[in-house]
Amino acid sequence: MRVGRPVKALPQPLCDYCGAKAQLARHGDEAYPYRDDHGPLWLCAACEAWIGVPARSTRNVPLGRLADAALRDAKSRLHDALEPLVAAKVRRDGVNAFEARGRAMRWLAGELGFDLPNPSIHHLTREQCEAAIRHVEAFVASRRGPAQADER
Ligand SMILES: [Zn+2]
Repeated sequence: MRVGRPVKALPQPLCDYCGAKAQLARHGDEAYPYRDDHGPLWLCAACEAWIGVPARSTRNVPLGRLADAALRDAKSRLHDALEPLVAAKVRRDGVNAFEARGRAMRWLAGELGFDLPNPSIHHLTREQCEAAIRHVEAFVASRRGPAQADER
């Protein structure tokens, strides 16, 4: 985010892959990538890259960076790697899953030195996702202990 930007300015995310201005696409638009309505998306059709906006956002602020197929896949794999930890935290600490995911992202950002504007998976690059997946896997393996790790 640029300093000195007018507070009310509408966002104009750029595509990280080609630098073009993303277009806001809504369900029913020709370029909209989903059959079902996933809410408005910032889209770069040329790169098949997009990112959603928060459900209650009135200014269509993007959730993070535009994600192409490879980044969407990496985020999905990181999400899957984190969910057992998130579920354990929900059980143990009685927080909701949203809060637990935020804490997990803060933990990862701290461990791996990511500078994120807020603790959301949607800000990660593909390389950061891959590093985070390796970190989570190593963390889980270390907690499982050598005897059980050998069973894989
Ligand atoms: Zn693009």
